[in-house]
Amino acid sequence: VAAYVVNLRSEDAAELQLIVTLHDLTASRKLEQMRVDFVANASHELRTPLAILIGALETLMGPARDDLQAHQRFFDMMQKQSARMSQLTDDLLSLSQIEINEHSRPSEAVDIGQIICSVKNMIQMKAEGLRKNISLELPEQNMTVAGDADQLSQVFINLVDNALKYSSEEAEVKVRVSTGEKSVKVSVIDTGEGIDPEHLPRLTERFYRVNSDRSRELGGTGLGLAIVKHIVSRHRGNLEIESVLGKGSVFTIILPLLPSK
Ligand code: ADP
Repeated sequence: VAAYVVNLRSEDAAELQLIVTLHDLTASRKLEQMRVDFVANASHELRTPLAILIGALETLMGPARDDLQAHQRFFDMMQKQSARMSQLTDDLLSLSQIEINEHSRPSEAVDIGQIICSVKNMIQMKAEGLRKNISLELPEQNMTVAGDADQLSQVFINLVDNALKYSSEEAEVKVRVSTGEKSVKVSVIDTGEGIDPEHLPRLTERFYRVNSDRSRELGGTGLGLAIVKHIVSRHRGNLEIESVLGKGSVFTIILPLLPSK
């Protein structure tokens, strides 16, 4: 905002003082545009599975009513699309919940080692189903941060889930934890498809995907990394992304440690 005082003198010599304030609207316009884009994207993402569901239901009630063989195919399709909508609404709710709490600092004492072990146990079955392996390198030191345990779990679930999604069969995903004097560093390392450097700066934007069809096919919503970025920033941490196309990616979270007593 800039303010100017302008002195004017009219013909009858009366003095007039004007105060002119100039507001730079670029930032607020950009924010408004982001909000409009977000609503449009979210509606579009919900409309597509909904249209498929309605189409499948109409076919089941009409032309395919007596075609028992077709039923299973349509049920599978409906199950997949309902799961997609459910994941999307979960992610949208997570994002808005994080935004509501954005300015309150999380204060629970949370052991990062424990969180990572339970995330690994949670995802292990899924990884095995995909014939992939998750390995863990965990130091013995204190790894307590001031945090929100559910949100921090969400961060590592999203990163490990992506590492599994975007790597080929039988690939290994490594989670490496190391501690410095004042911070703990968690790297999720995959030997998957990697990301072209031109996409890296936009990767944490809501609904930004390198390949939308592929992400949707794999059950992605395009919101996972936006959620990660918001949670990490609420914890006063950093997210770093390194990637080599065709070789793999490393997503690193750095969080400030609580001093040990
Ligand atoms: P999505 O639900 O599409 O996975 P994310 O926000 O989690 O959404 O990720 C955004 C995009 O970043 C993905 O669509 C994908 O193109 C890319 N991406 C994320 N993680 C990886 C990874 N480990 N390897 C390769 N690409 C990735």
